[in-house]
Amino acid sequence: MLEIAPSDIRLGQTFASKEEAVRAVASFLAELGAVEEEYANSMLAREKAANTYLENGVAIPHGRPEEANLIKQTRVVLLQVPEGVKWKGREKARLIFGIAARSDEHIGLLGQLTSVTADDELADRLARSTDANEIAEELKKKPEDLDANAAEDFTGLRKVVEFTNPRGFHLRPATQLADATECMDGKLSFVVDGKEADARRAMSIVGLGIGPGSQIEIRSDSVYAEDHLDQLSRLVELINEEPEEVKERSERRLNWQPIQTEHSEIIDGATAAPGIALGPVVRWEEALSTPKERQRGDDESEREALRLAVDSAVQTLRELAVDEQMNQVQCDLLNAHAGLISDEALLAEAMDQIGPDTDALAAWDAVVDGKVTQMAALKEANLAQRAVDLKDAGSRVSRILMGESHEILSGVTEPSILIGKDLEPSDAAQLNQSKVCGICLEEGSPNAHAAIVARSLGIPMLVAAGAGIESANTGDSVILDADGGRLILKPSCEDQESACKALKEIDLHRKHAWTDRFKPAITMDGHRVEVVGNISRVVEAEDALKSGAEGVGLVRTEFLFLDRDEPPTEDEQYESYKAMVESLDGLPMVLRTIDIGGDKPVDYLGLNQRDLSFLGLRGIRIGLARPDLVTTQLRAVYRAASHGPIKLLFPMIATSNDFRRIRHLAETVRQEVGGPRLDLGVMIEVPSAAIMAADLARVADFFSVGTDDLTQYALAVDRTHPLLAKRADALHPVVLRLIDQATRAAHEAGKWIGVCGGVAADPKGAQILTGLGVDELSMPPSVVPGIKEKIRNSHFEELQELARRALEQEDATAVRLLPL
Ligand code: PEP
Ligand code: MG
Repeated sequence: MLEIAPSDIRLGQTFASKEEAVRAVASFLAELGAVEEEYANSMLAREKAANTYLENGVAIPHGRPEEANLIKQTRVVLLQVPEGVKWKGREKARLIFGIAARSDEHIGLLGQLTSVTADDELADRLARSTDANEIAEELKKKPEDLDANAAEDFTGLRKVVEFTNPRGFHLRPATQLADATECMDGKLSFVVDGKEADARRAMSIVGLGIGPGSQIEIRSDSVYAEDHLDQLSRLVELINEEPEEVKERSERRLNWQPIQTEHSEIIDGATAAPGIALGPVVRWEEALSTPKERQRGDDESEREALRLAVDSAVQTLRELAVDEQMNQVQCDLLNAHAGLISDEALLAEAMDQIGPDTDALAAWDAVVDGKVTQMAALKEANLAQRAVDLKDAGSRVSRILMGESHEILSGVTEPSILIGKDLEPSDAAQLNQSKVCGICLEEGSPNAHAAIVARSLGIPMLVAAGAGIESANTGDSVILDADGGRLILKPSCEDQESACKALKEIDLHRKHAWTDRFKPAITMDGHRVEVVGNISRVVEAEDALKSGAEGVGLVRTEFLFLDRDEPPTEDEQYESYKAMVESLDGLPMVLRTIDIGGDKPVDYLGLNQRDLSFLGLRGIRIGLARPDLVTTQLRAVYRAASHGPIKLLFPMIATSNDFRRIRHLAETVRQEVGGPRLDLGVMIEVPSAAIMAADLARVADFFSVGTDDLTQYALAVDRTHPLLAKRADALHPVVLRLIDQATRAAHEAGKWIGVCGGVAADPKGAQILTGLGVDELSMPPSVVPGIKEKIRNSHFEELQELARRALEQEDATAVRLLPL
């Protein structure tokens, strides 16, 4: 165990920055002959990879294992900094323990420090003490929350598990264990070598000095002790398996840590779109032009002004929607907004209200507000979102009436980081990568439209960052680390350089994947999985082809039916399907019949909210209830099928009879049209379909798993509910078990199975699905190169093992922890 003598302590130190403090502690160690001078750089590098701040002003800087050769002698020193120096976020370090240790002796020191980290009063006293002897004596004492003599007469249940990870037992695994005890009752403790620690406190666990080979006895006196012991021991076993270095979790995430200086400030937020950005701040709200004083005219000219404002807003939205810089998500949003405000009834109502006391602006605002309140009160997720859209689109008209600009990027000339309170959906629709390299919002949500747009454009975005962002001014240089959930204000030069380096690495990675995008996704041991694209429009078929997709695994045809006043005609549909399949140059295209309902409502069908709910007349049910709609669509598909290889897929199939009904309708249409026979597939997205997969596999030609719906129906979690977003993880073992069941059933019947839900685009998801034996992964074209690269860098045997273990886990967190 490392001991600190009074001569190893320097009192009353002051430092302007963390870097200065780290260098000082390293040179103290060097003066004592414990390390070479260069050890300071190793300590700084370590600090970048993982901050060494503990609790209560205690930090333990130490070097990286790869520079252990710089250590001449195991030693620990202490710098006392009564005023503190900023170390992690707003936390200041006041007791800095510099460690020179070749192996994991410092973990023992962590144990000694638990008394300080657990006791505010003691930590404060030591940080202000003027007596090095007092500090040295205190540090020798046994930590209070560690019982050196664990009770032998304990009557609850015990289970022993060996800790084997050569990396040693650090604060992070301790926190994982302590977090897991949150949903457990009774007294819980860990006993190692006769010492007992409270299992609910990470620092107490760390105090046990657990190292490779330690036998950890887990104790519980709960009536559910058996379950608790089982859970905790399984977690220890997972921690045992953690690899030496945490591998990149996805192609975009880098293990990047800023070093804080005295001036820098870190603001935490929630990640809405991943990535890192570096650039000048633009506070677009300030940049918008100030309103002109509005002069009202007579009633007739007010009506005219309102009509012109609405027309101008609709026209701008429609023009933006066809701008080739806009991607599909943005176009859909802009068209939806144009549709909302071009409603004649809305305009007529506002026109009627114009009178002596009500000008065009007041009338429009009153009518829009009334409608928004009505929609919001309906407490239906889709309508609540529509209410937000109407408010936003309506305010575009109001701003025109007031003479305000709403071009948020008009003054932006170089790639910048937008900072502001919230981003309205129509503002988000104006975003483009050449002007925006990052977004940070005081409010907002990862599920809002703005976040969806940012993700679709690959712009890193942080939301819910709080009022602290007000200190960022236009022109300031900042780093937005959306992967790490933080905005760094006034970053040091070193941080800016290392962020640039991280960005270059991401870029290189992307370029590499892009160069190889046409190579098939074959694992290193020769297993191939098809990687195809999800599309909804003709232009996206071209995108899929350019991105290296080996075909299209899902055409969401319902998008041709949304945001309009009547369904598209047979000819209109025929032209779209024909153009899509022709632009694929002979590659296969899986076309899904309309999946209206749920989060994709349509007004003109005269259906009420219950019909349109997720459990209502969704997908194939609407097709069967309104055969005219699906018959027209099927006619268009069978006609288009003579122009390229189309397969037909049916959504929301819950039973084999659902499939037989729609198959009968399809065959009738085929014979009428004289089209070719097509493979007919079943979407596996209702749990009953997965469970009955063996029966369905007898009648269908292929399966495609919709993991987003399968997750929502299997776990009873509305996929659009912002508060339930964390629960809706498609890597939950229950979803994986359903996919496994469907995959086995498909293969036993000699049929193929793909996955077209969101998890196919998640690197870990793609690996697990490949391991489960899924034949095809279908995803947005933009992620195809990265996923192909991921598969090419994997071994199928390892993926199979990963999948096998994922099926055995109890929740999605454990699945995501599984190493590969
Ligand atoms: C799914 O549910 O995962 C799926 C691919 O279909 P959609 O997202 O269109 O409902
Ligand atoms: Mg679905």
